Amino acid sequence: MTRRSRAAVMTGLRTTEIREFDLPEIGADAGWLRVEVNGICSSDWNMYNNDKPGPRILGHEMVGRIEQLGSIAAYRWGVSEGDLVALEEYLPCGHCEYCRAGEIRSCIATDQRFSGGVRYGSTPLKVAPALWGGYSQYVYMPPRAIIHRVPDGVPPRIAAMCLPVGNGFQWTYYDCGAGPGKIVVIQGPGQQGLGCALAARIAGADMIIVSGLSTDAERFELAKLFGADHTIAVDKDDLLETVADLTKGRMADIVIDTSGLGPNNINPSLRLLRKRGVMATLSRKGSARDFDAELLIGQQLTLKGLRGHSYDAVEMALRAMASRRYPFERMSTHVMGLDQVDHALRMVGGQLKERSIHVSIDPWI
Ligand SMILES: [Zn+2]
Ligand SMILES: [Zn+2]
Repeated sequence: MTRRSRAAVMTGLRTTEIREFDLPEIGADAGWLRVEVNGICSSDWNMYNNDKPGPRILGHEMVGRIEQLGSIAAYRWGVSEGDLVALEEYLPCGHCEYCRAGEIRSCIATDQRFSGGVRYGSTPLKVAPALWGGYSQYVYMPPRAIIHRVPDGVPPRIAAMCLPVGNGFQWTYYDCGAGPGKIVVIQGPGQQGLGCALAARIAGADMIIVSGLSTDAERFELAKLFGADHTIAVDKDDLLETVADLTKGRMADIVIDTSGLGPNNINPSLRLLRKRGVMATLSRKGSARDFDAELLIGQQLTLKGLRGHSYDAVEMALRAMASRRYPFERMSTHVMGLDQVDHALRMVGGQLKERSIHVSIDPWI
């Protein structure tokens, strides 16, 4: 009997249609994942607003059970049919200088901004066998797939947050060097900002401050449970003055901007740093007015662009989940079915009144 997969296909700008696909035969070096749940990330909303690549199945934060596994894939990946796994969104080449150095996120073969780059959640249907996104019952696992085993006792709905929380470990610990003695300011209390707070806490930072808006009250409460010492609503209190007060004028060693406020946020954020501080940002939309190079050079600051994570950072997130010391279940606020993908994307994109922290899709409900 041929197996089929229901999937939510992005057919045009902010348009989704349910379609069914046959699962073709695959080679001995590949596999099929039966998706249990797929997490939605803010980048999905950006992709939903870009129809250039053509029809595709979005979703790149997949957790599921291995349904079918070729003999070569079983040998190479060290997993068995039935195992619960989380997939990386990256499908790296494995042999370029970035891959060889363990920096799979930098591999050009898996960067969708370059022609021919393939990764989950952004590869069009026209690339066989079409099932490259997590808003689907089954997902193709090509020879390049990168797999994490989900530790015992971590439910799929929690494991589905391992990539955004992994970003927190990557950015805070690996990219910005959080650790003992460091004061860390995290802008934006979403899933990635909460991941940054957790990583800073586990790394042993001295003080962790999370900023957002007064509408983020629930997220602030969670930020404290994940490790924040202080939270600041920037529409009520001045961020610069409050950071100066809390740190007794010492200011921050690290500022991580996950807010998406745009390049205009760079100058004010750099002012939160003490001399030799490091700022890293995700804010790419729009353009910066009068970038303050004098401040950057005068204070000997470092400014970095954030994008993605290493394998290790995701393993750290999965271990934090397995420790049961943090309330990840409160971070997962919504689970919806394939028929509600459009609604779920709009919710994550901030287009609806209803608030969420982490939303995931269960393709079987
Ligand atoms: Zn993502
Ligand atoms: Zn590579």
